[in-house]
Amino acid sequence: MDLPQTSSVNAALEKLSSKLAVVGTERIAIDRVQGRILAEDLLADRDSPALDVSAMDGYALRLAELLDGPILVQTTTAAGMGPAELRAGHAIRIFTGAPVPVGAECVVRREDTKESASEVEIAISKDSLRAGQNIRRQGENSHCGSVVLRAGSRIDAATIGAVASFGSRELNVRRKVRVVVLNTGDELAQPGDEVAAWQIRDSNGPTLQAWLSTMPWVDVVVRRRVDDSLAGVRTALRSSLEDCDAIVLTGGVSMGDTDFVPAAISELGGETIFHRLPIRPGKPVLGAALNGKLLLGLPGNPVSVAVTSRVFGTPLLSQLAGCHSEPARPLVELSQIDDKRIDLTWYRLVQVDADGQVRLVASQGSGDVVSLSHSHGFVEIVPGTLARGPVRLTLW
Ligand code: AMP
Ligand code: MG
Repeated sequence: MDLPQTSSVNAALEKLSSKLAVVGTERIAIDRVQGRILAEDLLADRDSPALDVSAMDGYALRLAELLDGPILVQTTTAAGMGPAELRAGHAIRIFTGAPVPVGAECVVRREDTKESASEVEIAISKDSLRAGQNIRRQGENSHCGSVVLRAGSRIDAATIGAVASFGSRELNVRRKVRVVVLNTGDELAQPGDEVAAWQIRDSNGPTLQAWLSTMPWVDVVVRRRVDDSLAGVRTALRSSLEDCDAIVLTGGVSMGDTDFVPAAISELGGETIFHRLPIRPGKPVLGAALNGKLLLGLPGNPVSVAVTSRVFGTPLLSQLAGCHSEPARPLVELSQIDDKRIDLTWYRLVQVDADGQVRLVASQGSGDVVSLSHSHGFVEIVPGTLARGPVRLTLW
């Protein structure tokens, strides 16, 4: 099904992605690759399975030799043993994963037999047995030399089993993306601090740290507050740029007199690719590139930060990381709708109930850190449409 594209966001992302330099590679030991991005295709170094193996506990036998009565059990074979050789007029007791004996044509499940220590009788109709039954054929999953995982794959809970099955002792992976987080704002105090009424405890820094921790291929090298002054932002950017691949800023990116991020970026020679997009929340978002590095300015409101970090930060950092597999964003139907529509791409906070129903979260103020904390993620509503569905769901 074709959804109308949120074309301005996609175009902005594409254009900025093309300016970013993918980080280099390193060779690391296989027991340390979890969470990293493959820098080269992973090829199978053997067939999978490597030979014919039994898919069941049962008896391996020749179809033509099936008797009406009991068959002698020649021996027992289990996973970890080499292939046995089936003698004429016999069956071999076999367990899951064991190599199919040479000469055997099928495996009859244990529950379909009557067995004693030395004999077995087939308890089901012989017509229901076919050659190859309950046998996993050599190479049926993949063949030696075939591509198991493409370069750019994430080594995660789904893929690491394949890496372990086929990989050599060391793998070529992308080095980690070094990210600096700068939270601008004279009003910011640290979490836990005593605060005056005009101060705010920095919630964006921890929000971004939590988001970045979902990407084990990222190293957060510095996270700190920056004053609202042109010199302050410029100095922080310049020193951070020396040793990082990306800087994610919050606040100071809109039109206020204390918003110095756009000017500081351009004074340092950064190329601003987008600034202000037709989205809610997060309209003032700014994306720039400098020498292949990413400079991403997120608006200061906490909900804007949570949303725009996912919408812009995740794909752009993935680009830097050489990662081709972004988190899945399934299409969902909302279980309740309202009649609101706006001419912007609208990211609305949602809750996913225990029964799987997706509902809009009541308050949607972009500064409302409480409703943010009651949400599981957000859906993306195409401009001018009602929030019904199918809509894309991003989970925190
Ligand atoms: P700004 O984009 O700098 O104009 O900030 C917009 C709003 O977000 C203001 O109300 C700020 O006080 C608030 N804000 C900015 N940075 C943070 C932060 N790190 N944590 C919590 N709120 C913030
Ligand atoms: Mg500010």
